[in-house]
Amino acid sequence: MQTYAYGFPRLGSDQEYKKAIESFWCAKIGEKKLIKQLFDVESQRLGVYQENVDTFPIGEFTYYDNMLDTACIFGVHKFKNINGYFEYARGAKALELKKYFNTNYHYLTPVINKNAKFTLSWNKPLDYFNKFTAFKNQPLFLIGPYTFLRLSQVQGNFIKTFDELCAAYKKLFKELKNHGVSSLHIEEPAFCCDVEKKEVDSIIRNYKNIIPQDLKVNLMTYYESVDFLSHLYDLPVDGIGVDFIAGVDNLKHLKRKKFPRDKKLICGIVDGRSPRRIDVGATAKYLDMIRKTAKLKEQNIVISNSCPLQHLPISLNKEDNVTNVLSGKLSFATERLYELKLINELMTKKSTKAKQWSFIASKKSIKKFPKSFDTLTLTPKDFLFRKKHQRDELKLPLFPITTIGSFPQDKQIRKMISDFENGDVQESDYDKFIRSRIHELVNKEEEIGLDVLVGGEFERTDMVEFFAQKLDGFLTTDQGWVISYGTMVCRPPIVCDKIERVRPLTLKETFYAQSITSKIVKGVLTGPITILSRAYVLRDDPLHEVAFELAHALNAEVQDLADKGIKIIQIDEPAIKELAPLKEAKADFYYSWAVRAFNIAAHLSSDIQVHTHLCYSEFSDILKWILRLNFDVISIESARSRGRILDAFKKYKFTRAIGPGVWDTHSNVAVKDAAVIEIIDKSVKIFDIDSIWVNPDCGLKTREWPETVKSLKKIVKIAKNYRKKYQNKAKRFY
Ligand code: GLN
Ligand code: ZN
Repeated sequence: MQTYAYGFPRLGSDQEYKKAIESFWCAKIGEKKLIKQLFDVESQRLGVYQENVDTFPIGEFTYYDNMLDTACIFGVHKFKNINGYFEYARGAKALELKKYFNTNYHYLTPVINKNAKFTLSWNKPLDYFNKFTAFKNQPLFLIGPYTFLRLSQVQGNFIKTFDELCAAYKKLFKELKNHGVSSLHIEEPAFCCDVEKKEVDSIIRNYKNIIPQDLKVNLMTYYESVDFLSHLYDLPVDGIGVDFIAGVDNLKHLKRKKFPRDKKLICGIVDGRSPRRIDVGATAKYLDMIRKTAKLKEQNIVISNSCPLQHLPISLNKEDNVTNVLSGKLSFATERLYELKLINELMTKKSTKAKQWSFIASKKSIKKFPKSFDTLTLTPKDFLFRKKHQRDELKLPLFPITTIGSFPQDKQIRKMISDFENGDVQESDYDKFIRSRIHELVNKEEEIGLDVLVGGEFERTDMVEFFAQKLDGFLTTDQGWVISYGTMVCRPPIVCDKIERVRPLTLKETFYAQSITSKIVKGVLTGPITILSRAYVLRDDPLHEVAFELAHALNAEVQDLADKGIKIIQIDEPAIKELAPLKEAKADFYYSWAVRAFNIAAHLSSDIQVHTHLCYSEFSDILKWILRLNFDVISIESARSRGRILDAFKKYKFTRAIGPGVWDTHSNVAVKDAAVIEIIDKSVKIFDIDSIWVNPDCGLKTREWPETVKSLKKIVKIAKNYRKKYQNKAKRFY
C-alpha cells in the first residue's frame, strides 16, 4: 500500500516562516534573503514528508495564503513584486479575511468582478516544479476551480464564471503537461458542502473536459463527506481523496455504488484536526473495512490524512509539559506521518512497531441526544425591559464609542509576559507592570474620549490560551503553534479533564481599571464556543456537554464581575462558526447547543449590559442563530466589507443595539474618515438612532500605538458629530 500526506504545516519547527516574513515586513531583511529563507523552510518541510511517506504535493507552500495565490495565478488579482503581493494581505488593497470552511485557518477572499477575464498570469505550480527538482515525480498542488470560486466573492453568474475559470485551468494543465509535469494534487474541499444539482452537473461536465490525457490527477476532498461522491467516479482522475474521519457518510456512499477499479481510493483515516493519537490496530481494521466495502484490491488503497495537517502543531518533540501528562495520547503533524507509516507496515505485516505506539481507545459516548437543545433565548419583551433598565443605569450618550478589548501588545509587554512565564520575573513585579500599563491606557482612553473603556487585555497573549491557562481541565503547550492566518499563530490548548473555574480569570485587571476611572469599564471575556473551537478536545464526552461545563465556569466569572460593580460585560464569540457543520442539515443541532452555551455563560441580571463580538466570518447566513444569543449589544466587523453585512439585518426586527466596525484593524492602514462615515450613514438607515454604537472591527492587539491613538481620535470626532446631528431626532421608544 502507498502512503500519501498533504497540508503539512509550513511554519517551520522554530517558526522560521513567521520570522522571515515579519523581518521582511519591518525591513530587517531584504527580498533576496526572504526568498532564500523561505526556500530553506520549504526544503525542510518537504524533507519531513520524504522521510515518512510515499506521496506528497509540491507547491503547497505560500508566502501568505493559497487562495490569494490562486487568484494571482489566474489574474484575478495581480502583483508586480513581492510588496505588491503583500498589499493584498495587509496593505491598502487588503482582501477580506474569511474562515477556511469550519476551521480556524483564515484565507484572503478574492473578489471576482462581473466581467472578470481569467488569464494565466503566474504559473506558480511550475515555479515550484522547477525550484524543487528533486521531487519532480510528486504531484503538483492546486486549489480546484470549484473550491476557489465557492470561497471567492463572485459578482457575476456563478455557473458562467465557473465555466470560464475551468477553461483557464484547462490551459494551465496543458502548459504544465508540456513542461513535463506528470501528476497533480487538486484540492476540492468545497465538494463536501451542500452543492446544488446544477453546480454538480457543471463540476462533472467541466472536470471531464479540462484534464489532458496522461496527466494524473488526485482529486482531494476533506472536512466532510461528498454527497455526490459516485458522480466523481466517472471523472478522468487517478485517485479520489476521501475524508473518513469527519465524513462518516462517505462509507455509506461507497456501499451504494461500487468504486471504480481503475482508480485509487485515497483514504483519509488519520485525523488532521485533532491530536488524539490513533490506535494503529483499530485504524488498520477500519481501513480494511473501507477496502472491503469499496471492493478494492490493496494496491488501489492509499493511506492518508483526513484533511490538511496544518491544523496541528509540527511535532511533539519540544512538548515536555503536555507529553508528561498525556504520555502516549497525542500526535501532532510529524507523528501523524509516522502513523501513516505504521498503518502501512501493519497492513502489510512488515512490522510490529504498531503495538508499541500507545493510544487512547476512543470510548465514543453512546448517550442519546435530543434533536436540538432549548437555547434559553430571552423574549423580545425581556430584551426591551433590559434595554430600559440599562438606559437608566448606564446613562450613555447617543452613538456610544468603545473598543473591542485589546490594545497594542508592544514588545515590552510581550517580553514581560514571557519573562514572567519563564520565571524570570516575580509575580508582584509582573502585576505592578500590568497595572501601570492599565493605568496608562485608561488615561489615554479618557483623553481620546471613548465612552466605555476597557483594560486593554495586556495580560493576555492570546484570547483563548489565557483562559485555558487559568481554568482547570486544560493543558497548554510550549511550542504547539499553528497558523490562523498569514503569519499569525496561536497555540491551541488541550481539554483533557473536567473544566472548572478554581480561580478568578479577569477580575483583578478589570476591577483595577474600573477603580481608576469614573467612566464605565467593560469586562471582556472569550466565550465558551470560541474557546472550545480553538482548543483540541481530548475528552470522550460529547462536545456540547463540554461546552455547557465551560459556559458555567465562565458564568461564575461574569457573576463575580457584576457583583463587584462591573456594569457592562462583553463575551466574544468570533469563532461561533468554526465548529459549525458544513452541511445545512446538521447545522440546527449544532447551533442549538452553541447558542445555549453562550446563554448559560451570559446569564446576568437585567441591569448588567451584555455585549458580544463577532468578526471575520460571513455571519449573514446564520443571523437567525446569532439573534438567539442573549446579548444587549453586538459588535461586528463590517469595515473591510464596507458594511455589506448590515443589509442582512434588514430582514429582522432588530430591537437591540449594534456596533458595526468602522475601522478594519487587521490591515495596517490608518482609518479613513470617509470609510467611518459610510458605515455610520449606512447604520443610521437600518437601525434606530439610539441603538448604534461606534467601534473598530476587532481588537487592536496587533496595531501600533501611534496609529491606534490617531485612528481612535478620528473615530471619536466623527461619532461626536453624529451625536450632535441626531440629538433632537433621537426617537423615544419607551
Ligand atoms: N476582545 C478580543 C480583542 O479585542 C477580541 C478578538 C477577536 O475578536 N478575535 O482582542
Ligand atoms: Zn474580532
